[in-house]
Amino acid sequence: MSEVRSFTPSSFQAFLEEGRLMGSRCKACGTLYLPPRPLCPRCGDREMEWEELRGEGEVKAFTVIHVPPTSMAGRTPYAVAVVELKEGPKITARISEGQEVQVGTKVVAEFRKEGDKTLLFFKPLGPTSP
Ligand SMILES: [Zn+2]
Repeated sequence: MSEVRSFTPSSFQAFLEEGRLMGSRCKACGTLYLPPRPLCPRCGDREMEWEELRGEGEVKAFTVIHVPPTSMAGRTPYAVAVVELKEGPKITARISEGQEVQVGTKVVAEFRKEGDKTLLFFKPLGPTSP
């Protein structure tokens, strides 16, 4: 499978609209980036290829937002978490509303339409173990 889209935030967004979480993997050193990058910061190579991630990961850190930006008014509190995906990269995204997380909570990606845009969320998978 070859994907010809450029390794930009708009391509990443276009994949989100299709319900796919896509990163870029450096062909030279094998590092996987999410969101995708056109240039590998590790080795400086520009040969990237698309790789689809399963969307499963674990919460590494989180913060609960009580005072939101205006676009988010009326939705507080909500949590924003740093999620480490099984494939390795970390990404910051919102936790689905009404869900509580802790460091170590297993989560799965969820694609939710807000307005005319699909956003990436993470949803906890069942109860957390200590
Ligand atoms: Zn590289």
